[in-house]
Amino acid sequence: MKLNHENIKEVKNKLIYPSELFINGKYQKSISEKSFENISPINGHKVNSVSFAQKEDIDLAVKKAREVFNKGIWSNLPPSERKKILLKFAQLLERDRLELSLLDTIDMGKTINDTFNADLPTSIDNIEWYAEIIDKLFDDISPSSSQYMGLITKEPIGVVAAIVPWNYPLWMAIWKIAPALITGNSVILKPAEQSPMSAIKIGAMLSEAGLPDGVFSVLAGDGPTTGKLLCLHNDIDCVAFTGSGEVGKLVLQYSGQSNMKRVQLECGGKSPNIIFADCANLDLAAEASAYAIFGNQGEVCSAGSRLIVQKEIENDFIKKVSEISKNMQPSDPLNPNSFAGAIVNTEQLEKIDRYVNIGKKEGAYLEVGGNITMKDTGGSYFEPTIFRNVSNDMKIAQEEIFGPVLSTISFSSFKEAIFIANDSQYGLAAGVWTKDINKAIKASREIKAGTVYINNYEEGVDSTIPLGGYKQSGIGRDNGPQALENYLQVKSTWIKIT
Ligand code: NAD
Repeated sequence: MKLNHENIKEVKNKLIYPSELFINGKYQKSISEKSFENISPINGHKVNSVSFAQKEDIDLAVKKAREVFNKGIWSNLPPSERKKILLKFAQLLERDRLELSLLDTIDMGKTINDTFNADLPTSIDNIEWYAEIIDKLFDDISPSSSQYMGLITKEPIGVVAAIVPWNYPLWMAIWKIAPALITGNSVILKPAEQSPMSAIKIGAMLSEAGLPDGVFSVLAGDGPTTGKLLCLHNDIDCVAFTGSGEVGKLVLQYSGQSNMKRVQLECGGKSPNIIFADCANLDLAAEASAYAIFGNQGEVCSAGSRLIVQKEIENDFIKKVSEISKNMQPSDPLNPNSFAGAIVNTEQLEKIDRYVNIGKKEGAYLEVGGNITMKDTGGSYFEPTIFRNVSNDMKIAQEEIFGPVLSTISFSSFKEAIFIANDSQYGLAAGVWTKDINKAIKASREIKAGTVYINNYEEGVDSTIPLGGYKQSGIGRDNGPQALENYLQVKSTWIKIT
């Protein structure tokens, strides 16, 4: 299906806004009857009231998840059978693609073009990829002495809580639940309070696909209540978390305060994008650099938020990026032709505005943008913003802003570029633009980041390639076969041969 104004309008008019918790195969309100208001950043209007999961709801979901896990209804199902159910789920996601896209767009303000043409297809691909891999993996036999046979097998870890952010609501959830479910675990998903609707909707879709009751629950709620209680729960075996480093550190503490559950973390970034003067195509690099920070309103963990440019091309290159940014202004997220949409909420909008003021006070030069815009809509929108003359010790170069704000920093030598790139608490991603293959490989080896893009920046999205961080950008990986390890235990069995 191709997006157009008509089909968007038609599906939106019939849209049902999911609002309840999903536990043991059915929707229900929070036992406490508590709820929270869900506001759309597109226009500041209330969308619905969403049930707010409290301790009793969490205990119930964990109890059901544990029961079904222990019975082996899902965990002991042959991988080829689990595969069929997830492939069916992928088909259902395709069937409801526009509906789910609209829910995410209305919830967090990103464009319908992004949700429909990027988030949904990549989520579907991710489900299919994990479904297809699971019945092709083998366990090991150790090269031990002839008196023994050592079996090294992998088992699901048990009950997994997946706690996810709002910037790609469905997609970030799928990155956790696809590998966690396919390996046989029970999963409790806690979406971000800013974007709960697509997560709630997929509860029923997984049941429709054939997933047994109890295996998958959705508990909406905020971080300090629902998220924290999940992390402290003594009958949850693993928390798979995507979000800020600040909360990631809390998750580690909660694990230590409770049952030492396994913690996987995908956290923030302040990713360097290095443009060497010998880059073969500066126009292409400028286009990609602008997209790397202004795509998805800059609300991207791996956004290329530090543009590190070699001195001799600095002026020209910044001019090119500035020119391109003019076509990356926010506009109505529900218009299929919009490039960028709304910022997730007023708190995030104010945070971005605060950082722009900090940048000015720190002495950086505001080249482009810097303002809240589209105020008449009642929604939250911010202009693409570019600072130059930034030094890497400024707050706008060190702290994650999570909005459309680019800090440009210049360098003279290869050594200086790498030093600046690595001078950060984060290590999620980096870009390197040069036609010298030796320089590119050397840079890739020296940069401390989980992903290095050479002569591209986040161009392809691929379920096969792991994504995750060095340093304070995280622990473990999403995507690729590596993500399966987050949700598996290793069992060694010694068999004596007599
Ligand atoms: P956040 O850390 O505020 O929230 C993330 C999730 O954690 C939400 O569901 C929230 O309710 C929950 N949470 C908040 N406080 C909690 C607590 N005390 N205990 C347990 N759970 C709690 O992050 P956000 O603002 O939703 O998302 C933006 C952040 O996510 C950015 O830092 C971004 O870089 C990061 N992110 C990282 C990746 C990645 O793959 N590395 C991908 C997307 C987003």
